[in-house]
Amino acid sequence: MTYVITEACIDTKDQSCIDVCPADCISAEVGDRMLFIDPDLCIDCGACISSCPVDAILAEEDLPREWELYLELNRLHFENAPAARERVDTLVPAG
Ligand code: SF4
Repeated sequence: MTYVITEACIDTKDQSCIDVCPADCISAEVGDRMLFIDPDLCIDCGACISSCPVDAILAEEDLPREWELYLELNRLHFENAPAARERVDTLVPAG
């Protein structure tokens, strides 16, 4: 299992989750419009959930159907960051 950052993070990037993550598995790169959790490093502790001011983080098993694509999007960032950025822009066009 992993935790997943979803749509509410786009253009928010509060980064409070990074401060509480014991696995240091949340990416906040300049040029990205959202943060991403590395599913291979997340230890499923849940510490990040309550730190997020926009409730963007959910456990994989709690993802509603419309946000299931964010599971793959978080993984994609760590495999191909430019492709993930493109996908974010498709999902929520930059204003
Ligand atoms: Fe980090 Fe824990 Fe959140 Fe995973 S669930 S991203 S390990 S704080």
